[in-house]
Amino acid sequence: MASISQSAFSITELTESQTTISQFTTETHQININKNQTKSSFNIITTLKSVFTRKPSIKDPSKKCTKILQTQLIRLREKDPEYEEVKDLFAIKTKIHAIIKLQMPTILENKHEKYKKSIAKKIKGPDKSVNYVTHKMFHGTKRWINCDLLIINESGNNDIIKMENNIPNFCKSGCGLCGIVQQGNRKISAKRMWFAQQSGMSLGYCNRGIKVKVMFVIDCVAITQPKNVFITCKEKATLPRYLIIFDDPNIKT
Ligand SMILES: [Zn+2]
Repeated sequence: MASISQSAFSITELTESQTTISQFTTETHQININKNQTKSSFNIITTLKSVFTRKPSIKDPSKKCTKILQTQLIRLREKDPEYEEVKDLFAIKTKIHAIIKLQMPTILENKHEKYKKSIAKKIKGPDKSVNYVTHKMFHGTKRWINCDLLIINESGNNDIIKMENNIPNFCKSGCGLCGIVQQGNRKISAKRMWFAQQSGMSLGYCNRGIKVKVMFVIDCVAITQPKNVFITCKEKATLPRYLIIFDDPNIKT
């Protein structure tokens, strides 16, 4: 869970999350990354419509619960250890425009966490931790060529997410990127979803002919470590964690 300061919206601690998508993406492929995430601080560059609903605790009225209704996009600083961790996992040698940490809506995260715990209980042996059954994989997806969400600024990169009134400017429909960011991986048209262990494999599922591509790092839940690919028909078994915006190393112009 992430605790977010009420005032400045600066995230001070982060951990698990999950997802689902709508009529946007179908392909996928991912890779397995580290199981443990490091705590660190980030700057929230995007505060979607993210509405924080605070409900008083029955036991202690002073304690508040934070509920995320819309995905939070948090751009990691290049010096952040978490940025380095994701970059190392990504492994493709190319220009990375940005690595965005995603905090998915609470309802999706809760489903994912519940499923994760149920799978962890099935482990035979002493280690029944949720980390043991959580595997980071890659998922390449397509975006609209003129995706409303992205600002590709070759010179600065100060602005990578297009905002309007502090709300990310998502495509209305048909954009895999915007769909997954908001709703996670969903199997609308595809009966099964694929995630790859190697980013190079997922690269083939991004837009062809477009230099600036997008790829997700996704938590996938499985009792055993997936080999090469993770295939599932359960939306709750996956949860987007990071979005990587990068140049296709095979396109020079
Ligand atoms: Zn889009």
